[in-house]
Amino acid sequence: MFKQLADLIEGSNNIVFFGGAGVSTESGIPDFRSETGLYAAQSVYGYAPEDLVSYTMFVREPQLFFRYYKENLVARDAQPNPAHIGLAKLERGGKLKAVITQNVDGLHQAAGSKNVIELHGSNWRQYCVSCGERYTLDYIFDEASCRDEVIPTCRDCGGIVRPDVVLYEESLDSNVLDAAIAALLAADLLIVGGTSLAVYPAAGLLAYFNGDNIALINRSVTPFDDRAQLVIHDSIGEVLSAVVS
Ligand code: ZN
Repeated sequence: MFKQLADLIEGSNNIVFFGGAGVSTESGIPDFRSETGLYAAQSVYGYAPEDLVSYTMFVREPQLFFRYYKENLVARDAQPNPAHIGLAKLERGGKLKAVITQNVDGLHQAAGSKNVIELHGSNWRQYCVSCGERYTLDYIFDEASCRDEVIPTCRDCGGIVRPDVVLYEESLDSNVLDAAIAALLAADLLIVGGTSLAVYPAAGLLAYFNGDNIALINRSVTPFDDRAQLVIHDSIGEVLSAVVS
């Protein structure tokens, strides 16, 4: 299996990686859409995760929104794992042209990847909804910047400071989407990892790939297994570190 993936990489010159939550769970970041995440959201906060990170919740109950967001969606101490490190290495070698990710944790950049297309935005960017002023992630965790202990506010205008991530009910940034499509159209090998491909817009985006081979690495079966030339049901970190070294 690993040898087959190594051969596919060897024979390709324009590789794109498409990744989901499974890439980050190996860095200890829990998937809030998993069974456990679902249960925790419901029992502790009284809502499903998609309600808690929705635009409606942000507007109507910002206190609950920010409590859930800070406690469950941000892991400031998380470190890149062998999957992130392997991909960064592959990019430095010139074969990997882009990482398209559904994660918002910035771990690909922390590992050294340069061309990272963040479909759902990034926790590391925060901005004031009223004046647009940019803030750091640390700023929103500083209680002195918050009202009601948890809602971050702009030091210039008092507006709410929110994460530059795509909430439920919000649409994806069209420039980001265009960049992802362009990368997929140019690719000859697509490696898909750590995603069940169930979350929008994953499945639709992959239709733009027109290259020779798809390699799929995921612990469980996905609806795309049939379309892939190679399917590996294993830890993405172990697979990528073994193959890249
Ligand atoms: Zn402001």
